[in-house]
Amino acid sequence: MYIIKKKIKGRDYYYARKSIREGEKVISKTIAYLGKSRKEADEKMQNMLKEIKGKMVSHLKGNKPIIEQKPEIKKAKKEIKPLTIDELATFCKRKGFVFKSSEIYGGFAGFWDLGHLGVELMNNIKQDFWKFFVQEKENMLGIDSSIISHPKTWEASGHTASFTDVSIRCKKCKKFNKVDKQDLEKVKCIFCGGELDKNTAKDLNLMFSTKVGPVEEESLLSYLRPETAQGMFLDFKQIAEVSRAKLPFGILQVGKCFRNEIAPRDFLFRSREFTIGEFEFFIHPDEKKCDLLDDKHKNVEVNLLDAETQEKGKEDLRKITIAKMLRENKLEEWHAYWLAEQILWFKELGLDINRIKIREHMKNELSHYSSATFDLDYEYPFGSKEVAGIANRGQFDLSQHAKFSGEKLEIFDEETGKKVIPKVIEPTFGMERVFLALLCQAYEYDLRRDNIILKLPGKIAPIKAAIFPIVKDEQFVKIAREVFLDLKKSWNVIFDSGGSVGRRYARMDEAGCPYCITIDGDSAKGRDVTIRNRDDTKQIRVKISELKEVLRKLINSEEIEFEKAGKIVETRVKEV
Ligand SMILES: [Zn+2]
Repeated sequence: MYIIKKKIKGRDYYYARKSIREGEKVISKTIAYLGKSRKEADEKMQNMLKEIKGKMVSHLKGNKPIIEQKPEIKKAKKEIKPLTIDELATFCKRKGFVFKSSEIYGGFAGFWDLGHLGVELMNNIKQDFWKFFVQEKENMLGIDSSIISHPKTWEASGHTASFTDVSIRCKKCKKFNKVDKQDLEKVKCIFCGGELDKNTAKDLNLMFSTKVGPVEEESLLSYLRPETAQGMFLDFKQIAEVSRAKLPFGILQVGKCFRNEIAPRDFLFRSREFTIGEFEFFIHPDEKKCDLLDDKHKNVEVNLLDAETQEKGKEDLRKITIAKMLRENKLEEWHAYWLAEQILWFKELGLDINRIKIREHMKNELSHYSSATFDLDYEYPFGSKEVAGIANRGQFDLSQHAKFSGEKLEIFDEETGKKVIPKVIEPTFGMERVFLALLCQAYEYDLRRDNIILKLPGKIAPIKAAIFPIVKDEQFVKIAREVFLDLKKSWNVIFDSGGSVGRRYARMDEAGCPYCITIDGDSAKGRDVTIRNRDDTKQIRVKISELKEVLRKLINSEEIEFEKAGKIVETRVKEV
């Protein structure tokens, strides 16, 4: 039930309307006049809902049945509040996107399981990442390195030597905080803002240690990787040799990483086991130019929080193009190229790039070997936080591994005839953070439909289509099964014949399934089906013989508009 305003001879009149399903059609009916002002209409509507609620109670007590009616105005108020991360976590659990790990034992902080929908969504994101950054690029090679590597790796990288983080207890809430040693004087408790007790400061090792070798005395202390980057540096020489790669080129991988976080929080955002997608892009140390940098990259506009603004203690953003960042000498050309490519991937993935802020690291935040680093922060319900990053790492990593291993990690440069140690640009993505950003953006409560619509772009949606026989008729089920089994060869699609069509639609809206395909009485005669669009419930009629091709175009939404993909079906009969 909802309120509409009508203008008659220049004056406003308010009416209560209701959507009623009649066979295959949903009809809107005016059911009451509510007065001439919005305030009056709201009051009358509230009273009507109260009355309905009263009838429902008497119905429960055994009186005559009434039509099911949900108090939507109450929900409308609830809906205005922005989505919280806890609500999203509850939703993810209810639909099978994400569960707490080991829930039957009460859960295990910082560890999560992806459910049947979550794993599909994550796989689609990872596949798209691979397609964008490896398959579609000329100069990128993918690898998959081991999670545990030689312990010397972490000595060379500085992970075991410099315990820069300390654990420190809050005087007020008594919780432990993880703090960078150099920030010890200036930070407050992340949980309550209270003062931290410096007497409780203890060195932290964020790496998970393990013993390699089953015999205790002979086993070797090693670590689960806290980042994927080192795998690319360890394999650099081999990959360069066997692939015959010439500078510049990149090595990329996506994989699980582990950090023994002191305070896992914000759902998937800060956990102890997570997935990183990143690459090391190797460039000749003297190279200043990037041949691939064109207008597509230069014209990318970002919201920049620059170092100078932060140094003044301010947080003002400014809109700036990549071209202007180059003119201001904020970064080198290859660095600019990959920053633009990161934004372009987000855009292609369907992420709202207006919600992304580029934060330039201040001088005192930069590692001694890095000339520039940027965080890409996304506006999550719990604040603007890092979803990706890009650092200029110079020659640091390869030089360190050369020093610790005794191997020469150089590459032959044909132009100068000399061997060089390349410099490195490192773009990094937190895959669960991308997953989370996409879910936050897609989640929408629809007042009219009274359910959540998960507006995930078709190409990353966990289920691409659901196939329904409109009723459980033997003939309908047969055709629906045929369609289902055929589409299944191409995509993750589901078959559902249980319950009312409205309920089946609602379940699929919540799962983020973009298209529902119904088989009805006319399907046998005309060999055609109805496709319903998740986002606006519009429907089109399409021949079964053309269904696969139409669906392929719809899933890659750039290729065709929904209403042009078939014959439009009138579902809403307008009255008055
Ligand atoms: Zn505290």
